[in-house]
Amino acid sequence: MFVMELRFECFADTTITQAEKSINNLLEALRANGQVLGREFAIAFNEGEFRVRLLMPEKNSLQTCFHSPWVKLALDELTKAKILAPRTKFIGQDINSETSYTLPATWQILYTSYVHTCSPLRSGETLQPIPLYRIPATFNGDHKRMIRWQTEWQACDELQMAAATKAEFAALNEMTNPQSDLFRRGWDLRGRIEYLTNIPTYYYLYRVGGINLESELNRACPRCGNAEWKLPEPLLDLFNFKCEQCRIVSNISWDFL
Ligand SMILES: [Zn+2]
Repeated sequence: MFVMELRFECFADTTITQAEKSINNLLEALRANGQVLGREFAIAFNEGEFRVRLLMPEKNSLQTCFHSPWVKLALDELTKAKILAPRTKFIGQDINSETSYTLPATWQILYTSYVHTCSPLRSGETLQPIPLYRIPATFNGDHKRMIRWQTEWQACDELQMAAATKAEFAALNEMTNPQSDLFRRGWDLRGRIEYLTNIPTYYYLYRVGGINLESELNRACPRCGNAEWKLPEPLLDLFNFKCEQCRIVSNISWDFL
């Protein structure tokens, strides 16, 4: 992924409040479409110019053809706030993040964790993130719902990794139980993506706990009860189970690995 700097110049008198509002609106719109990653953006104001550094999946993530209706509207509002369309400067490649996958995948997985800032849609071949703006809008013109689902999954993951509060158990239930709200929402999004891209798309169901390794190896698909879902070899060093019918991948409980 790439670090880019956006510079916003005022072309007439404007107020800082008005400028900030329209810049923040544009950044939110880009984020909801997967064109910008991360959640917090520090906007610096200096010598009549606003600057912000952003993480993007590709060098050309801001290309017009990727814009959502909200991004286009936000750019119009920028003009109304007397600000020129942003100039982009390439800063460099982010050394901590993965390269985006831009080829059509043969299959895809919805997979994230609390340390990932990239797209939750991954290539089934390499697990590399697929930029969301490269697939058709999932709902209402962009990918807001996907980003929201990812944020909630990551919040649950953070709570269970910290293992310091009673909220850990509620969070784990959302991540591991196919009856939970988080599962239902993510799994529906998965179906929507499969329908829109025509590419088989799976949901990663987190697994931890259990009694012993043997019972974990014989665990059946928690959604349909299919006992034949264990793979001969783990996929991508992560997934030991795959239910074709339910479109779920899962792991052997982390407690026994
Ligand atoms: Zn199943």
